[in-house]
Amino acid sequence: MPTQKSLHSIPLTSLKGVGAVLEAKLHQLSIYSVQDLLFHLPLRYEDRTRAFPIRELKIGQQAQLQGEVVSCSVQFGKRRSLTCTITDKTGFISLRFFHFSAAQKDALETGKCVRCFGEVRRGRNGFEIYHPEYKILDDPSAAKTSDTLTPVYPTTEGLQQLRLRAIIGQASALLANHEVEDFLPESIRQRYGLPSINEVLHTVHQPPLHASSDWLLQDANPAQKRLAFEELLAHRLGMRKNRIDINQIAAPALTLNSQLIAAFLKQLPFTLTGGQLSASGEINEDLQSGEPMLRLLQGDVGSGKTVVAALTVLHAIGNGYQVALMAPTEILAEQHYWNFQDWFTPLGIHVGWLSGKTKGALRREQLENTLTGKTQLLVGTHALFQEGVEYNKLGLIIIDEQHRFGVHQRLALREKSLKDNLTPHQLVMTATPIPRTLAMSAYADLDCSVINELPPGRIPISTALIGSERREEVVARIEAACQKGNQAYWVCTLIEESEELQCQAAEVTWQQLSTALPHLKIGLIHGRMKPAEKVEIMAAFKAGEIQLLVATTVIEVGVDVPNANLMVIENPERLGLSQLHQLRGRVGRGQAASFCIMLYQSPLSATGKKRLLVMRESTDGFYIAEKDLELRGPGQVLGTQQTGMMTFKIADIVRDADLLDNVQDASETILQQHPQVIDRLIQRWLQGSETYIHV
Ligand code: ADP
Ligand code: MG
Repeated sequence: MPTQKSLHSIPLTSLKGVGAVLEAKLHQLSIYSVQDLLFHLPLRYEDRTRAFPIRELKIGQQAQLQGEVVSCSVQFGKRRSLTCTITDKTGFISLRFFHFSAAQKDALETGKCVRCFGEVRRGRNGFEIYHPEYKILDDPSAAKTSDTLTPVYPTTEGLQQLRLRAIIGQASALLANHEVEDFLPESIRQRYGLPSINEVLHTVHQPPLHASSDWLLQDANPAQKRLAFEELLAHRLGMRKNRIDINQIAAPALTLNSQLIAAFLKQLPFTLTGGQLSASGEINEDLQSGEPMLRLLQGDVGSGKTVVAALTVLHAIGNGYQVALMAPTEILAEQHYWNFQDWFTPLGIHVGWLSGKTKGALRREQLENTLTGKTQLLVGTHALFQEGVEYNKLGLIIIDEQHRFGVHQRLALREKSLKDNLTPHQLVMTATPIPRTLAMSAYADLDCSVINELPPGRIPISTALIGSERREEVVARIEAACQKGNQAYWVCTLIEESEELQCQAAEVTWQQLSTALPHLKIGLIHGRMKPAEKVEIMAAFKAGEIQLLVATTVIEVGVDVPNANLMVIENPERLGLSQLHQLRGRVGRGQAASFCIMLYQSPLSATGKKRLLVMRESTDGFYIAEKDLELRGPGQVLGTQQTGMMTFKIADIVRDADLLDNVQDASETILQQHPQVIDRLIQRWLQGSETYIHV
């Protein structure tokens, strides 16, 4: 094929009808060249290749129809509308217009032939389409239909679908004698059986005649596979490249201070599990290597990640380095602070505290101690890396994350702490297990350690699903159990992420339960209480002075009361499965059998039911996370939909899970043998998404 001017350098304005105004609109869609237009992929397709038989229509279907007008009149219902009924001999359907003119009504004369396109819905008397696109055909036998499916593109305000489609049509016509540069080396394409990019782009914009409307998203479609592969590869390369850049900088090589470690282990009331030991061993190797550690520590709720973190902290402190431990919320950070103080004070280690709420003299003191190095471990929230916080000799950063931090966030944090040309080590702990596919794509820049067992003696929690109509029965069961000496949580949830409303809801529930159960000692804890109050309540609960603790989801993280073996979760259908798993993990820590009652709001939707059944079936965090991913998608599972992270144009890590191993291999081949295409692949797919490319 003769390669003429590269499509990348053809300006948009060279296309017919594209002037400066339209060009600016296209820029809003991150389209800067003709080649970019070709990578602007359809969301779906419309089938305008034929008239669909009315009898075979389904509700919700987008279809092209053709038929003869049998009646057309103005209806006076709740809203005035023009209703035109047509038939194609297989059935009848009504076209409804809420905005219409007299001329329109007159034109839709009985006996005329109409071709229309729109979404089928259920009407009072059979099928209807609201405001279809339509055309009156004077000579139905001569009217042409399209030859291929009609692509529908994502667009932006002020740019009509028809216009955009026409422009992209021009661009794809150029594919006949121009080539889009294929960044996938021939050898890789052959190895994985992927078609060339030219072929793929051509069919994507002009799909095969009999393809269905979700053709592009279909599993077995080679065009989809090729594009998804390339997109996943670009993402992975972006992350691998970050990692390689980071490895260019040295990190302190830390030798193991066995005395300090031994002193710490001696004061623990248990011995480490095999899983904890092996994770800790992997971490120690990293710390000794002189290359920066960048490791993800995974383990199910209750597997004992905190102890492994503590060993890592001691490893750094034993070499005279400081450690920063950051948690995503105040409450989780506080839990860590109390915990580490208990463990480390007897060892003569100074633990500091810093959050956004630390103000005045206390803040000055903490900053001073951090700067002079008196503070050896500083625990807190994002405030740890704000302007004005200076470390003396930071050697290790530990992040306990609920959701994935952006790569750029972590890099900023790293730059801040760069001293003597040495970069600190980093350990990331996840609050929830991450399914393998998600780990392979979203965490490709991290090494991974998994604590694959729970401490011995844990009895699996039994979970019951009970509808809200049986609430009183549940209250009675809780009363009986507490009177026998058990302790229970009652967790209130809300749809809104508003902390304030959540706290109010918990207060109302607390009052109701206090009235209903006058003989029980009932406590209340939520995020808006003062830290000292929270500590007091938790201490009373731990000591058994409170029998029933009403709480918001603040107890999701960190809370540890082994005697509490009952939990009621109200409206569990509002939470993600991983979050439910975290919550439920607060019980089942003691010697007695534990129970969790999920008190759902009836009736449950079909998916809602499916999700809660997963909770009843399993207590395996990894399995639950897999199901959560299948049912909700990666954005929800990572909690990152706001940042746009892990949003792919075409790939879908559940559907395309089978590509990931090959993508991983291909990315290593490219890094070693074809480094020249890396930046261009990243540019092609991640343009405009700052997440990975701003190194
Ligand atoms: P998570 O992995 O969910 O953060 P934690 O670190 O909070 O778990 O540990 C959960 C509980 O298990 C804590 O009470 C902790 O003291 C206890 N624990 C940790 N390791 C062990 C072990 N090896 N044997 C017994 N109990 C342990
Ligand atoms: Mg934890």
